[in-house]
Amino acid sequence: MKYLDEYKDPKLAAQLSRQIYKITTKPWVIMEVCGGQTHAIVKFGIDTLLPDKIELVHGPGCPVCVTPLEMIDRALAIAARHDVIFCSFGDMLRVPGTGGDLLSVKAQGGDVRIVYSPLDALKIAQDNPKKEIVFFAVGFETTAPANAMAVYQARERGLHNFSLLVSHVLVPPAMEAILSSKNNRVQGFLAAGHVCTVMGYREYSPIAAKYKVPIVVTGFEPLDILQGIAMCVEQLEEGQYDVENQYARSVRAEGNVYAQDLITKVFCVTPRKWRGIGEIPQSGFSLTPQYRDYDAELKFNLGDIKTQESRDCLSGLILQGVKKPHECPAFAVTCTPEHPLGATMVSSEGACSAYYRYKR
Ligand code: SF4
Repeated sequence: MKYLDEYKDPKLAAQLSRQIYKITTKPWVIMEVCGGQTHAIVKFGIDTLLPDKIELVHGPGCPVCVTPLEMIDRALAIAARHDVIFCSFGDMLRVPGTGGDLLSVKAQGGDVRIVYSPLDALKIAQDNPKKEIVFFAVGFETTAPANAMAVYQARERGLHNFSLLVSHVLVPPAMEAILSSKNNRVQGFLAAGHVCTVMGYREYSPIAAKYKVPIVVTGFEPLDILQGIAMCVEQLEEGQYDVENQYARSVRAEGNVYAQDLITKVFCVTPRKWRGIGEIPQSGFSLTPQYRDYDAELKFNLGDIKTQESRDCLSGLILQGVKKPHECPAFAVTCTPEHPLGATMVSSEGACSAYYRYKR
């Protein structure tokens, strides 16, 4: 397929692999931030094309994985209400909460619908004025503009039966949390290309300078990832710590300023809890006071929900690059994609799920 297959060319991959071998003299630990990159690395065996000295560790950039259990339980409670049509992207429907998942709520008669855009949920709100329509607004900076647009449009059109259950998280604070942890092993980052398409990459320069780590904005195809690794290793070997852009066909330094404008109209930065990691200061979006009427958490007043993660699960350490999935005793034994015990086995972009599929 044009514009995709070129980025999987085996000859060019071998060339990049040889280049990485040639420039690597010391051991380095590099983290790919995004779950899509993790999935591609494991699926295409990119780690097997690297010298033993290069270790890739997998980051927290899978939005389904890091959505906290409490938020899943809130979604289940709202979706079970008879006056609600609960809309979500499909990948959230089988994420287990404490007492089931959204699919089981649907099986029990809840009106749970898969949509492809929050604007589809807005249309459902327009067509069903006697129902409350809730969209599960999950994800990183990438999904924030469309979610912001939906709320903005709802307000413009005077629709009051629409709200968002917001669980947005932000990449740079998570990178800082990893780098400032006493367990940190990460020496260089492949930053998530799609996040930078929206936000640009200027906010990474202070992180690179403060922690002395190279950060390479990287795409998702095998050649993107290999080139991103080559750029990162080159900097590490030369003692540099700059922000570089491998994904120049999509990312500009300033990002998409129109999308950013819309985000800042509708969302403000707040602390957020990350599944498996815990609360990270200023690491998520919430609706601004001007848009609070569209906040499903306030509208349905669910109170404080307390949950308990499985004690056997190491996903917090995996999401911080400290452990690998096969180091978990539960991996492929008591924890499988059908019966996930933790965050990173839930989504196909989660590291445990990718290892289960391609590396068992
Ligand atoms: S294999 Fe399962 S239990 Fe182990 S870390 Fe991964 S998600 Fe958690």
